[in-house]
Amino acid sequence: MIKVAKFGGSSVAGAEQFKKVKAIIEADPSRRIVVSSAAGKRDANDHKLTDLLYLCHAHITYGVSCDDIVSSIRGRFVEIRDALGLQYDVEGEFDKLLPRLNRDMGVDELVSRGEYFTSRLLAEYLGYRFVDAADCVFFGLDGQIDREKTYAAIGNALARYERILIPGFYGRLPTGKIKVMSRGGSDISGALAAAAVHADVYENWTDVSGILMADPKIVKDPAPISQITYAELQELAFMGASVLHEDSILPVKERGIALNIRNTNRPQDPGTMIVEEVEEDADQEERFITGIAGRRNFTILTIKKRGMNTSSSLRQALEILDRYHAPVEHITLGLDSFALVSSTAALGDSVYDVIADMQKAIRPDDVNVQEGISLVATVGRKMTSRPGTSGRLFHALGKNGVNIRTIAQGADELSIIVGVENADFENAIRVLYERFAG
Ligand code: ASP
Repeated sequence: MIKVAKFGGSSVAGAEQFKKVKAIIEADPSRRIVVSSAAGKRDANDHKLTDLLYLCHAHITYGVSCDDIVSSIRGRFVEIRDALGLQYDVEGEFDKLLPRLNRDMGVDELVSRGEYFTSRLLAEYLGYRFVDAADCVFFGLDGQIDREKTYAAIGNALARYERILIPGFYGRLPTGKIKVMSRGGSDISGALAAAAVHADVYENWTDVSGILMADPKIVKDPAPISQITYAELQELAFMGASVLHEDSILPVKERGIALNIRNTNRPQDPGTMIVEEVEEDADQEERFITGIAGRRNFTILTIKKRGMNTSSSLRQALEILDRYHAPVEHITLGLDSFALVSSTAALGDSVYDVIADMQKAIRPDDVNVQEGISLVATVGRKMTSRPGTSGRLFHALGKNGVNIRTIAQGADELSIIVGVENADFENAIRVLYERFAG
């Protein structure tokens, strides 16, 4: 059995967190690969090292001294090292680095040092072999991860050393330069490591005990989700639930590896298990729906024309939106009308040109624009098999005074999405939670 354990920024924010990580690692010898983020916030007023490193780079760009920031970053590493009695020569390494700051060091390499130094310290503390991501995570010239090359290198590293620790978030370009991923990218590094060694589980250790059924800022104490399929997770993430970096799902999903979200501060909690398919037996206890998520600020464009050839008008409308780079989230079709939902921000000021172009191309009887719409998705693999679900959902919203502006169901019937006014957004989520999960 091999587990890959990725620890997020808050899990490695300081010496006390390092101790929790060590206890977790020592509790299960199958955790042979550790992937670490850069030290994150220790409390609400603290800063993530990655943010400070980006700030450093901004100072350099504008010719402002970043000495204070550099010394606070170095101070955090020194503090961790000294509190844990480690040997790593933080000062010596910084002395080597500093002269390069204003010369040949690109922003990516600079920012990657958060993960690098945190991982150096953590590797020494855990007694794991440090394997630099620059030597085992590779990008192609197109800036995309070269998965085959990366898998081979990580596989080789694990074949050579019993236990390895890889810094997350960065890798190397064919030019030899370091490149970072987008923010939160250590999730991807962990997924690549898990896929590379065909891990049994990819554990993603963070500061919450798994994914919650709804946003806790909207619903009071939402229940955690114990099991969720990759497909459901993708629906929830698409509809605004921020859980994992979206690019971290594919490598593990592809290889049938379960992903377990765990809490470093509460290792006794089982967290959320994300799997390809939930086994029937294990499913008994689960609630009827899996989760609720939503996003604000959409625009509905409704086009009406008596006797229109809907398919050709729809095609024209889609082409127009595409021309203005406004992605269509949902389409509802009527006999003599259709409605398209797009993000208000993506439409921007182009909305007037879009309407003008539609009027020219389709010659509709009426075009209606409705802004200020929120989309709320109720997601659940079990909804397919139960007739009457949408009826109950609409009834619950109606009874509580939430006016539904548009309705859509995902093609795979994993979710029912309703469009409501922005003002009703939070209420809609609360009503649905109470009705189906509370
Ligand atoms: N340290 C990076 C960030 O803050 C990457 C990560 O934590 O996953 O985005």
